[in-house]
Amino acid sequence: MEGMEKSFVSPAALSMRTLVEEFKKLPGISLKAAQKLSYSILCDPKMKNTLKKIIELSENVEICDKCGTFKPAGADCANCADDSGVICVVATYGDMSAIERNGCFKGSFHILGGLIEPLEHILPENLRIAELKERVLANPGKEILLALPFSIEGDATTLYIKDSLENCDVKLSRIARGLPAGAAPDVLDRRTVLEAFNGKTYIN
Ligand SMILES: [Zn+2]
Repeated sequence: MEGMEKSFVSPAALSMRTLVEEFKKLPGISLKAAQKLSYSILCDPKMKNTLKKIIELSENVEICDKCGTFKPAGADCANCADDSGVICVVATYGDMSAIERNGCFKGSFHILGGLIEPLEHILPENLRIAELKERVLANPGKEILLALPFSIEGDATTLYIKDSLENCDVKLSRIARGLPAGAAPDVLDRRTVLEAFNGKTYIN
């Protein structure tokens, strides 16, 4: 019979399957981890509360359009409200939090959201470079410190930023070549990061 060929999937199994698919969309979550998380959510009421809290917290935080850092939803951004100091440009949030943790920088941050990688389809327009230029134009004479990795992508991004700020009234500096090739600040210890910041060089 025609109908016999279709296998029956119970509503519970379907929910589990959907949940697993959703968890798998999260970065760093394997199929096995997604299955484990899904099982916990469905079986443990405490886990349901944890999930609710995660959703509530994430809804209370948003990314600032201007500087790329996190800010309370609907509120002004504390990071870019005061642009009187040096602006430190980093590729990712992880880099920013490593620098903050090390306490070696006191100005404000600008998160690009990655590095230029044409082969990965990450182009300058996909990063917050135009927004950086806007901050520079709004605050003439200030210093921009590039804390980008010393890799092909980091160098390409540095060069692009240097070119795009060429006619601007800005002092452009880059952290020292004290970093191991390809290592981002988020994997470095305090001493290495301090040396990198203390040995910065001006590049324009
Ligand atoms: Zn901001």
